[in-house]
Amino acid sequence: MNYLDLTIKEIHNALLEKKVTVTELTKEAIKRAKENCDNAFELILEDEPLKKAEELDKLPVPVDNLLFGIPFVSKDNFSTKDIETTGSSNILNGYIPLFNATVIEKLENANAILIGKATLDELAMGGTGTSGHKGTTYNPYDKTHSHLIGGSSCGSAVSVASGIVPFSLGSDTGDSVRKPANNAGLVGFKPTWGRISRFGLFPFAPSLDHVAYFTRDVFDSAYLLNILAGHDDKDSTSSLEKIDDYTTYSKDIKGKRFAVIKEIEDSITDEVLNKRFKFILKELENKGAIIERVSIDKRLLESIYPSYFVISCAEATSNNANLDGIKFGPYYGGKTYQEVMFNARTNGFSNLIKRRFVIGSYALMRENQHDLFLRAQKARRIITNKFNEVLNKYDYIINLASPSVAPEIGKASDKLSNEYLIADNYLAFANFGGQPSITLPIGFKDDLPFGVNVTSKIFTELNLFTAANAIEEITGFSNLSVNNYKNKEEK
Ligand code: GLN
Repeated sequence: MNYLDLTIKEIHNALLEKKVTVTELTKEAIKRAKENCDNAFELILEDEPLKKAEELDKLPVPVDNLLFGIPFVSKDNFSTKDIETTGSSNILNGYIPLFNATVIEKLENANAILIGKATLDELAMGGTGTSGHKGTTYNPYDKTHSHLIGGSSCGSAVSVASGIVPFSLGSDTGDSVRKPANNAGLVGFKPTWGRISRFGLFPFAPSLDHVAYFTRDVFDSAYLLNILAGHDDKDSTSSLEKIDDYTTYSKDIKGKRFAVIKEIEDSITDEVLNKRFKFILKELENKGAIIERVSIDKRLLESIYPSYFVISCAEATSNNANLDGIKFGPYYGGKTYQEVMFNARTNGFSNLIKRRFVIGSYALMRENQHDLFLRAQKARRIITNKFNEVLNKYDYIINLASPSVAPEIGKASDKLSNEYLIADNYLAFANFGGQPSITLPIGFKDDLPFGVNVTSKIFTELNLFTAANAIEEITGFSNLSVNNYKNKEEK
């Protein structure tokens, strides 16, 4: 029995029934991580997790802690005490944090077992999973390595999709968990902005950054939020809003109102994906949900990506100014502070990062700020108002998460097409407004998975899980992985 292909809850039950031990699980997870050839890991841990597993095996398995003894992986932009954390960037090679990110601390306290640090697009900037200092991370659904898994949380997605661990941490600034979830057949969730502490997460663009994660089913996603949500004195942006028991989501979708954004739907040309999406909507209707098409001015939808780009690059350049070659990472030499910083940043960052910092700094220059940065902020406000207006009338916004299955490596997209500008990049609207948002698998095309995305009003995660659960009931796609998807009939 391959327990690591199961969900957290199923593995927990196997532990309770003594069908498997924590040590066996941990050894198997480490073995699978080592065997993986998709370039998913910055670092695979061994001694520490095995030591912890042996200690846990001496204790009774608590019935009320599903994370006890569960192996997991973290994206390498979460600080891990005494464990190298690079953000997949050369500028942080060898950097060993002195503290844990709050989410890592919470998972450790729940006795989950960290077995590795996953690759990402350098410093989480990117959507392809190709820009980290270890190169391209591949989609495990394609053994020939010709398809992307997508990013920026590429290694985290691979580690769950290929049955190494049942959940992994990622971060989502524009879509970095919800997009790869589409390509990996996973449940990828980000909560409301502020719901989970970001202390210890490397900042990319803090007004948009969210802690997010991958699981193999909706229940696990809700359960993890119980563990991770809550105010943190170390993160003043974390919310004081009341927390629910997120696993108590209603299973009844009757009367719930879904808005399909027509312009997003219309800009997707893939017939297989469109047909399957319509089928899911029909089935939701059969369960008593109300589905309506809603229009949003195309110009607004087209401005999500450019506004996102200006804002995120501007925040990125200022928040990463501390990477000066002195405080963290390797020392590249130089006679003056300027020279040291110049050498470190020249050698430590890839061209993609430099490009983003140049764009960000340009947008922040006094003479450009009004036309670029402030204008993007205004567009963000108008876009957020519009989506909130829809969410005041409907429980959910639902659309395909992406216009396609995982893209082929090296295949360029037409950056001015609606498919790219709208369907491929609209998910960032929920980073603009901070709404909770979830992607989950609904089908396969040529043996590659694809998914749907659902978003609800801020702080209504409980209601969001109701929609996700209904969709999961329709598809029957819980605990998908590359090892078992062929046995799962598409319903
Ligand atoms: N693809 C987006 C970007 O390139 C999203 C990144 C993210 O969410 N971290 O910035």
